Amino acid sequence: MITASGVAEVRSACDEARRAGRRVGFVPTMGFLHPGHRSLMRAARVGNDVVVASIFVNPLQFGPTEDLERYPRDLAGDSAAAEAEGVDLLFLPAVDEMYPEPPLTTVHVAGLSEVLCGASRPGHFDGVATVVAKLLSIVGPCTAYFGRKDAQQLAVVRRMVSDLHLPADVVGCPLVRERDGVAMSSRNAYLSEEDRRAAPVLFGALRAAAAAVTGGERSGGALRRLIAREVAREPRVLLEYVATCRPDDLEPLDHLEGDVLVAVAARVGSARLIDNITLCIRDADVVADLGVVTDRPESEVLCAER
Ligand code: AMP
Repeated sequence: MITASGVAEVRSACDEARRAGRRVGFVPTMGFLHPGHRSLMRAARVGNDVVVASIFVNPLQFGPTEDLERYPRDLAGDSAAAEAEGVDLLFLPAVDEMYPEPPLTTVHVAGLSEVLCGASRPGHFDGVATVVAKLLSIVGPCTAYFGRKDAQQLAVVRRMVSDLHLPADVVGCPLVRERDGVAMSSRNAYLSEEDRRAAPVLFGALRAAAAAVTGGERSGGALRRLIAREVAREPRVLLEYVATCRPDDLEPLDHLEGDVLVAVAARVGSARLIDNITLCIRDADVVADLGVVTDRPESEVLCAER
C-alpha cells in the first residue's frame, strides 16, 4: 500500500491506473476505521482493480461548537486496517492543500442540506459536499463507495455528483451494526459505559417501526410517534428528530408507500448518534433493510425481513 498526501501525486497515480485500463474504486473516510468503513473498502476491492481510500478529518463539516479537535484519530491502526482490506493507495490530504486560504469556493446542495441533520448542523452538508467534490476531482473517474449509515449524506452526494456531472458512480453500501444493533460509528468512542448500554434503544425503536409497517401500519405520523415512545423508554437517549421520508430527495412522507427512509438522531451523553432503516413497501408487501451485523455473515437476513 502506498501512502500519499499530495494532490498531484494522487491524481497522477489514479490517471496512470486508468491509462493502464484499470478501474479505480474510491472510499472517502474521516478515519478511526471500524468494520463499517472496512465493508466499503471490501466492496471497492471486489469491484475494482485499484482501491484508493482517503482519511481526512474535514474541518469544513464541523460546526464551531462541534468535536473537530477531539474527533478520534488512529493513523497507525487505520493504515494497518486499510492495508488488510487491500487498499492500494491511502490518501491523507493536508488541510492547507485541501483548503487554500482564503476559502472562497464551496458546494451547496439546496434543500437536501437543510432538513434532518442539516437543521441542527447548519453548514455541515456544505462541508461534506465540498470535500467530496474536491476528493472526486482529485481521484478522477471512479466508483465511489458510501455507507447507508449516513443516509442524508448519501442523498446529498448523489445529487451533487449528478448535478455537477462528476465522473463518479456512487454506490451505497449496507449499514453495519454492532451485535446489539448499535450502528457502528467512530463517535461511539465518546459513549460512557452507561450511555453505550442505553444506545441500542435506537435500533430497537427502528425494529419496532419495521414490525409495525410489516403489520400494516401506513401512517408516517403514527410510525414517528411509535419510535419516539420507544426511545423515551431510555431516559439517557434524547431524540433529536425522527423522520419518515423518501431516500433520494428526503421529501417527508405521511403515507408510507414505496421506498421509505426512517431516520433518527439522538443525543446520548456527549455523543450525537444517527441511525436509520429503509423500508420498501409495495401494497401489502414490505421488505425492510435493517443493515447487517458486523461479525455474523448470517445476519444478511436482517436485509430481507418481511
Ligand atoms: P466517516 O469516517 O464517518 O466520515 O465515514 C466514512 C464512510 O463510511 C461514509 O460513507 C459512512 O457512511 C461510512 N460508514 C460509517 N459508519 C458506517 C457503518 N456503520 N456502516 C456502513 N458504513 C458506514
